[in-house]
This record gives sequence, C-alpha cells and structure tokens, in this order.
Amino acid sequence: MNTPKYKRVMLKLSGEALAGKTGYGFDFEVVKRIASEIKELVEMGVQVGAVVGGGNIWRGRNGIGMDRTTADYMGMLATCINAMALQNILENMGVVTRVQTAIEMREIAEPFIRRKAIRHLEKGRVVIFAGGTGNPYFSTDTAAALRAAEICAEVILLAKKVDGVYDSDPNLNPNAKKFEKLTFQEVLEKNLKVMDSTATSLCKDNNIPIIVFGLDTPGNIKKAIFGEPVGTIVSN
Ligand code: UDP
Repeated sequence: MNTPKYKRVMLKLSGEALAGKTGYGFDFEVVKRIASEIKELVEMGVQVGAVVGGGNIWRGRNGIGMDRTTADYMGMLATCINAMALQNILENMGVVTRVQTAIEMREIAEPFIRRKAIRHLEKGRVVIFAGGTGNPYFSTDTAAALRAAEICAEVILLAKKVDGVYDSDPNLNPNAKKFEKLTFQEVLEKNLKVMDSTATSLCKDNNIPIIVFGLDTPGNIKKAIFGEPVGTIVSN
C-alpha cells in the first residue's frame, strides 16, 4: 500500500484561497473542500500544521495613508478570523484542532507554545497557527517558514491560486512557462514570485522544501503528500 512521503507537513493557505472566486471574505464551499482534504491527510496519519493568511479580509499594504504597523496588526488579526473559520469547519467534520496565536488572545485560542504545538501534532490534532509571526513588516509566508522550522515540518505545502511557479504571470502571458523544479537560489536570483524573499531565505537556510500548487484542483494536497508531481518543487 502507498504510504505518504511526509509525516509532518506545514500547509500554507493564503487568505485568497478561502475566498473562492470573489477574492473577499469566505466561500464556505471552498473552505469545506479544503477542510475535507486536510481531514484525509489526518486520517492517513500525517501530522498537519497550517498557517492561514489574511488577504481575503485585510492586507497591511491596503492601509494607504495608515501607519504601516497598525495596518499590519490589522492583517494579523484578519488571519485569526480565518483560523477560527477553518477551525470551526474542521471540527464540524470531526477533525480535532487547536488554534495557536502569535498574539495572545486567550479567550479565543492558545498562545503559540512550540512544545505544546508539537504535542498536539503527535496526538493527531491539526494545529492552525494564527497571527502571522506576531510582528509587523512580515508576511504569513514568513510565518509558515518560521513555524515549519520550529515544528520540524519536512515540507511546506504552499497552496495558491496559480498551479505552480511560472517565469512570468500566466494570467497576463499565455506563453508563460511553468517550472517543475527550482532551487531557492534560482528563486532569489530570478526574483520569482513564490514567497517573499524573507520567507524564501528562511526556507533556504533551514533546508525546508516548498511545494507550490494550485488549490483549485481537488486532490492536489494528497498528491503532494505522496510525492507525486504537482505544481513546482523548490529546494536547495
Ligand atoms: N502580517 C504581518 N506580520 C506577519 C504576518 C502578517 O504584519 O507576521 C500582516 C501583513 O499586513 C499582511 C497581512 O497580515 O499583509 C495578511 O497576511 P498575508 O498578506 O501574508 O496573507 P495572504 O496573502 O497569505 O492572504
């Protein structure tokens, strides 16, 4: 029988991924489908950590004319709203979860405690990391890289709107070429839009591969877990 290639993974879901076609708020049908894919992984014995973005509600860069740090903290709070939505849907499906936040809000969720997070994962609970890194001027991609390193995840599954990494924007250029494999160095040198450079450097320095794939195709998360070719793999 096929066994998953990875035992502990970090799934990064952008806020956009939860929003469906509208790009804003939640498309609960989409969130339910993602949750059912996560459930499948848990049932296979894969330990799943998840970092959620906030772009479907608020991004720091939307705050034109605002203080950057305030706008960024608003973004971090947006990720907490997303984490609660994902948690609720997973729990309704019978998946045991914990939300851990980088900014304390004890009435709502646990604070991030690395050793506790690992314990939850070992018990088969999905741990949703919310609030980004807890610091302005960072992104949730960086939070995914940081938490992945902290919980010793073997891979980051970067679920995106686009189905991999291209040499130019496939929405603008019909001849854009998709890469199957890339090194972190190539991503940095070519300035490819995989993650921001802080997140990319963190993954490079800590040797954490990233699989970038489209979330719109059902079953992609499972394929990635079994090591089947899906999207683009970035490693050292
Ligand atoms: N953010 C931040 N520090 C972090 C993570 C996120 O300040 O460690 C803020 C930032 O303003 C960002 C917003 O939260 O724009 C939402 O996160 P992100 O844009 O990464 O979400 P995504 O694009 O994945 O939906």
